[in-house]
Amino acid sequence: MLFDDPQFKETIASVLVPVAVPVAYTYKVPPGRTVVPGTIVKVPLGPREVIGAVWDVEPDAAINPKKLKYISRIYDETPPLDADLRRFVDWVANWTLGAPGMVLRMVLRSEEALEPEAPVPGVRKVAGADPERLTPARKRVLETMEDGLAWTKSGLAHAAGVSASVVDGLLRQNVLETVEMPAAPPPPRPQIDYAQKPLTQAQLTTAEDLIRSFDRPGGGVTLIDGVTGSGKTEVYFEAIAEALRREKQALVLLPEIALTEQFLRRFEQRFGVYPAEWHSEITPKNRTRVWRGAASGDMRVVIGARSALFLPFKELGLIVVDEEHDAAFKQDDRVPYSARDMAVVRGHISRFPVVLASATPSVESRVNAEQGRYMLSELPERASGAELPDLKAIDMRTEGPERGRWLAPGLVGAILETFAKGDQSLLFLNRRGYAPLTLCRACGHRFQCPHCSAWLVEHRFQKTLVCHHCGHVDKVPESCPSCHSTNTLVACGPGVERIAEEISDLIPQASTLVLSSDISGGPERLKREMKIVEEGGADIVIGTQLVAKGHNFPKMKLVGVVDADLGLAHGDPRAAEKTFQLLAQVTGRAGRVTGGGKGVLQTYNPDHPVIRALLSGDKHAFYQAEIEARRAAGLPPFGRLAAVIVSGPDKMFAEGYARALVRAAPHDQAVTLLGPAEAALAMVRGRHRYRLLAMAPRQFDLQSYLRQWLAAGPKPTKGLRVQVDIDPQQFI
Ligand code: ADP
Ligand code: ZN
Ligand code: ZN
Repeated sequence: MLFDDPQFKETIASVLVPVAVPVAYTYKVPPGRTVVPGTIVKVPLGPREVIGAVWDVEPDAAINPKKLKYISRIYDETPPLDADLRRFVDWVANWTLGAPGMVLRMVLRSEEALEPEAPVPGVRKVAGADPERLTPARKRVLETMEDGLAWTKSGLAHAAGVSASVVDGLLRQNVLETVEMPAAPPPPRPQIDYAQKPLTQAQLTTAEDLIRSFDRPGGGVTLIDGVTGSGKTEVYFEAIAEALRREKQALVLLPEIALTEQFLRRFEQRFGVYPAEWHSEITPKNRTRVWRGAASGDMRVVIGARSALFLPFKELGLIVVDEEHDAAFKQDDRVPYSARDMAVVRGHISRFPVVLASATPSVESRVNAEQGRYMLSELPERASGAELPDLKAIDMRTEGPERGRWLAPGLVGAILETFAKGDQSLLFLNRRGYAPLTLCRACGHRFQCPHCSAWLVEHRFQKTLVCHHCGHVDKVPESCPSCHSTNTLVACGPGVERIAEEISDLIPQASTLVLSSDISGGPERLKREMKIVEEGGADIVIGTQLVAKGHNFPKMKLVGVVDADLGLAHGDPRAAEKTFQLLAQVTGRAGRVTGGGKGVLQTYNPDHPVIRALLSGDKHAFYQAEIEARRAAGLPPFGRLAAVIVSGPDKMFAEGYARALVRAAPHDQAVTLLGPAEAALAMVRGRHRYRLLAMAPRQFDLQSYLRQWLAAGPKPTKGLRVQVDIDPQQFI
């Protein structure tokens, strides 16, 4: 808000700056300039200059204007952040108990996007000029330029197959001249009617429901609960088409970058062009383009990771959250927020439809649908008519492998059978590396991370021991660091690399591929390998949860789960739900398009309700039982949870502080406080961690309570950090 102070004739404004303070700061507006709420500005802050935005709060008129600093720069060329986005920022801050400035920082992620686009230098042939000597390389350059258009230097050298010095030589001889390249034109728009697949009746019904939701006041949320392969993507493409018809932008959130590539291609098949992409791996240049394109409206459809939710869309009219149950939508550091829940909030503020899609919805969304807060569309059958995979369990207590092996004969037999038919198998184990623990046979020494309470994981291909929590890397030593014996180190338990080794022992004639997020080569290699698998180019794929998600592998007929019990042991109230989701997803990869899929679960607990639900295929019974258990225990979504994590470099001090915090808690009958307890991951990056948990009934305003509580508690000192996690998903 602006405020004219008659005494000093200066305009002052509130500016939200990207730091962890609860309020906006007051600045003077340079004479003759105007700002409005949402205007993006640069302001001095201590010794630095930071990017912020003018905010809708009264500036502090009590401060002597002589003490105020001027806004140092106004980004006139960038549209001001609109009122809905500003409300969204405030809403997220309020909900997560984060600082609004830190939420704004997620919006202003690309500083370059605010600068006017720099002209790109290019080269062009000078009409009539000829080189002194026409070498073959020069000839190729000139032939490449025959059409008279401008090129970038590197683009030209690449296209002509010459080194940059050849181009430089021609420039020196004035055969070429430098010019400014015209700015890249806006990307072509998706074509609404480019190539629509004929939909099944069930798909059509759901698509029509989604299209109708555009006319509902407020839009509302629809949950598409459809089995793997039911064609949810094709259905929500129709919602995107409708948004485009209404001249609105659309955003699709995916949990995993590795899924992007296939999505881009499917989108192109449907709409004729690629959508814009937004995630941590895009180049700074593309980041700038997409941010600007979202703001200008040039980018009509963006597909991205959770952070895309904070792009400054000009006219957003639809958000789709695919694999909505996925834990990756929860950000756990800085501002801990759930992108799925905040997508619903953003839709609610701007009154447009939000679509959540999953084969295994979160219990929260399922309850919201059953209680009528969300609309529910179910797709119980695969679009291709293919039947769901036939699942069976192998009881590892009686049918397990011999010592030192991890794959039971029953599973190996199924892999051999699949291989003999020329089909693909997937072995799923949610453990990266070779072995989760290494120890010394002579003295019992265990390799632990020096900064975390976690074992180091052996990565045999790279000959390293790695901490999966902080990234600490050691070389595998020649001898035991404790007793100095040599050849006494043993690997305990399997990781994907070890399973790959077992497979090449057992079935050496099959080609295998390990898909795991930490394989060197990064996302590019991963993309290539996903494509190889999709095209049937590997007989046996061994993968972590990366392969469980969304991906469509047409030739995959068998999915073997190496350790179906892995996720069940945790003290996490969502352990059963998460394990069910993960295993249903991963076994759903089998026979997705053509049917005939098989799933094999290796388990020591064949009678566990999660395993039984998977085998029987009775998803609804599982959800009903899980929902009832949550209701009885007052757990989400029937109750509310917030975690408070206290961490610090000194263990005693951190624990003492956590205790003092509990003593300072305001008494309220509605709230149950648990802890402090040493976190399951008691130390991370050298910081000792204690957890507190607050539980309250659903209607209770937990945020206000927490605010009051933290204000009443002692000030954290000596490097202590207090982090609030509303609706925690991880309990480590
Ligand atoms: P989901 O996301 O529900 O698991 P997808 O949308 O990925 O399912 O579709 C699964 C497979 O079925 C894909 O190969 C897709 O191309 C195909 N498919 C979907 N709908 C149809 C349809 N109406 N006709 C033919 N094939 C379809
Ligand atoms: Zn030893
Ligand atoms: Zn570590």
